[in-house]
Amino acid sequence: MTKRRTFISGCLVAGSLPSTVFAAAGNDYADDFNMQQYLKELDELISIDSKSGYIEGANRIADILEKRFKSIGWTVTTKDCEGRGKALVATNTPNQNHYDVVLAIHSDTVQPVGNAAKYPLTIKDNIAHGAGVADDKSSLNAVWWICKKIPPEALRKLNIAVVLNPGEESGSPASRSFMDEQAKKTDIALVYEPGRPGNGFVRSRKGSMFLTINFHGRPAHAGNNPEQGRNAIEAMAKAIPEIKAIASEYKDVTLNADVVKGGTTANTIAEDATIVFDFRFFNDQTRDAVLDKIEALCKRGFAPDVTSELKYVAKSSALAHTDKSQKVIDLVNKAASELGQPDPKWMDVGGASDGNRFSGGGAAVACAMGVIGGDLHHPEKEWSDMSSVKPRIALGRKVLELIAQQK
Ligand SMILES: [Zn+2]
Repeated sequence: MTKRRTFISGCLVAGSLPSTVFAAAGNDYADDFNMQQYLKELDELISIDSKSGYIEGANRIADILEKRFKSIGWTVTTKDCEGRGKALVATNTPNQNHYDVVLAIHSDTVQPVGNAAKYPLTIKDNIAHGAGVADDKSSLNAVWWICKKIPPEALRKLNIAVVLNPGEESGSPASRSFMDEQAKKTDIALVYEPGRPGNGFVRSRKGSMFLTINFHGRPAHAGNNPEQGRNAIEAMAKAIPEIKAIASEYKDVTLNADVVKGGTTANTIAEDATIVFDFRFFNDQTRDAVLDKIEALCKRGFAPDVTSELKYVAKSSALAHTDKSQKVIDLVNKAASELGQPDPKWMDVGGASDGNRFSGGGAAVACAMGVIGGDLHHPEKEWSDMSSVKPRIALGRKVLELIAQQK
């Protein structure tokens, strides 16, 4: 109680940084929590550079987790994801082909190599700063604490897996297929991305894809024989408003033309042009409908004798708010209420996370279950609210218990 009060007043001193004021209740589910030990572990994680693709860093974090989870008797398997380093799965029982619940975390950050030394862990008034502190290292460490003392009923009844992705910020084909494999085996995914200020959680995230359209016309001299040319840039210019208009037919769909390239010289009718649209959507049915319409327009063409070809790497999924995910959300709300914590605020957001992959694989997802943080990806400002660590650990354990009670 006394400790909690100290934390709260500390956060108020921090002033501009939003902080959640948690009641003292609910500590029963995290009575083993030791802030000093937690910070020591967090410091170790933050001191490791782990930008996506910096394999050495990803492997060091996977090694640390492997050692930790083996020390509590969990089964650990790792998989080398080419270009991203080691992914890890830790399970409470051996040989799991199916997970009742996944706690999802990621080891990679967006911080360039060298930022770990430049922006070490510092704590002032209970707010932690440091490279990658909020996204995702403090939550990664909180998941470790959750697993150290899972309520007995949950540990007995549930197949629980901790899934560590080394390529969440910027995936590789190998890390994406690793995550898709995990998603297919998962009923419920609790995604430990940072919690949002104001006790925020995330119930849906837009899916996003980059759509490239290549236009191909016919070159000609702009002065000598312009009538023989077929201008790819002009076809592209016609395509932009037509394609953007598709977005307005659907709620919460965005199609933004963000990159264009084309032409050779100012006196040559442009043979080629390329445009890249950023495409975002809240459910996969809408995604498919929009893609079909763009595909049909490209087939029809935008100017005579100029071909247009739509390309994308692979379809990505939205993290959809579904009846199934609402049941998980209800359990999180119930857990918070039983712990005497403030009501969770559920948000619909634009940016993707591993929750999108789990949702795409058919799992029910609750996201932003982790330690509350903000100013993500800003090396100096990124912050993580240490007063929310213990409440979120307690909440995670309580949610697992409620899931087990329903089984
Ligand atoms: Zn993240």
